[in-house]
Amino acid sequence: MVKKVAIVGAGPSGILLAHYLLRRQERYQIEIFDFRSDPRTVAFSKSRTFPIVLSQRGINALRQIEGLESAVKAISLETNGAVLHQQNGKTRVISRRSSQWSLDRTSLVIKLLEQLPTKSDRNQVNLHFNHQCTQVDFAAKQVKFQKSDSEAEITVDYDLLIGADGARSVVRESFLKTDNFQCEQKYVPNNYKSIFLPPLDPKLAVNWQPGKVHSWRLDNGTSILLLYQMDSSWSGVVLFPHQDKTIAELATPQEVISYFRQKFPEIGQILPSSEAADFANRSVSRVLTVRCNRYHQGDSVLLIGDAAHAVSPSLGQGCNAALEDANIFNQILDEYADNLAVAVEQFTIQRQADGIALVELSDYGLPSSKKLFFELLLRNSLSKYLHPISPKFFLPSLFELVAEGKLSYSEILDLYQDWIAKVKKSNQEILSP
Ligand SMILES: Cc1cc2nc3c(=O)[nH]c(=O)nc-3n(C[C@H](O)[C@H](O)[C@H](O)COP(=O)(O)OP(=O)(O)OC[C@H]3O[C@@H](n4cnc5c(N)ncnc54)[C@H](O)[C@@H]3O)c2cc1C
Repeated sequence: MVKKVAIVGAGPSGILLAHYLLRRQERYQIEIFDFRSDPRTVAFSKSRTFPIVLSQRGINALRQIEGLESAVKAISLETNGAVLHQQNGKTRVISRRSSQWSLDRTSLVIKLLEQLPTKSDRNQVNLHFNHQCTQVDFAAKQVKFQKSDSEAEITVDYDLLIGADGARSVVRESFLKTDNFQCEQKYVPNNYKSIFLPPLDPKLAVNWQPGKVHSWRLDNGTSILLLYQMDSSWSGVVLFPHQDKTIAELATPQEVISYFRQKFPEIGQILPSSEAADFANRSVSRVLTVRCNRYHQGDSVLLIGDAAHAVSPSLGQGCNAALEDANIFNQILDEYADNLAVAVEQFTIQRQADGIALVELSDYGLPSSKKLFFELLLRNSLSKYLHPISPKFFLPSLFELVAEGKLSYSEILDLYQDWIAKVKKSNQEILSP
């Protein structure tokens, strides 16, 4: 019998899982709900998006669906390392072994949606935008949605409910009413604002390399990450400590330009006043991290992606892990012949430790202390030469390990636990009043 699947959240994890389920021999009838409008029909809003980097984990999850890897690659740019811009104007280049793709998050979602075969004769998948999930009744196997264009509330029956509704998941919130569910939600110490720069004058941009992530960092922890875009512009984020209100309080284009000219002169000199005005008006975003002790409820509900394990963007793994979740659940369905009750429980068994490890690595992989930050850079550059000679003492670079995807996040955490403990202690000292 065809099983009814309700997916809450048309983000990367929810849509990729729909792709996987659609290829499972017409076993599933899929309804996808999202409280936002269809991103294919609304004007591109820079305030609601940011660039992301996909590494091998995410790319591998896309590769399993015919045509997806090439479709997403066509809207991505290859990156193979980073350029660290120092305060003295010099740069330090870090190269990566594995190549990664940089692209805009909303463009990824649009591409995944475009590739969904929604127009098939059987309507095996239907999209419902402007539908906000408000409530889940686990006993009745029903989920409720409020339509944004009317007062109407609709109730949907499900055999399988997927909570792919991001860090502030309503599906996860419903787990809180069940026995033995523990979930820790924490804001990361840094807030962020997106930033967008026009194509650069080559005379001013000698140190800017399109194939690298560019970063700047101040002693107080404020940092900027910028990535080259398909249209030759640059976009990224300014991250700053929550308690430091300087950036949040920049109110006029003049204040914004003067701040950047003083603190980040390379950016200040090319920041147009239109972007300075937009930057002042753009809201400050906070990032939530989520640690749960299980990702399933009963025999029919599953959390995936940020809903299960939202992380800080420091290692650039949130979306990679979200896409990997869809691939892993598909493999579990293969392994257990689509027995949903067993499959959802197996997802917790096979994935929860990795989810927790990823949050830990993302929280404490990158230190706040300047001294430890340079130690990390030194370790990374030395590891290239010394790891092959003495693998136990010189670990491979943390960034390479998470990006390559050959080891699980738990295995990487095992290797890096001394470093993580050291950073945790140092960060606590820095952040404690
Ligand atoms: C600044 C920044 C930079 C990042 N950089 C990277 C990077 O370089 N690499 C990387 O891998 N990851 C990165 N990430 C993380 C990445 O964006 C997320 O991990 C990824 O988007 C998670 O996908 P998801 O589908 O699980 O959730 P989301 O992308 O959050 O999608 C959830 C969807 O659910 C919908 N929704 C929410 N609540 C409801 C509701 N009640 N009812 C209906 N629909 C609902 C939302 O509208 C949304 O469409 C970054 C994140 C940030 C903030």
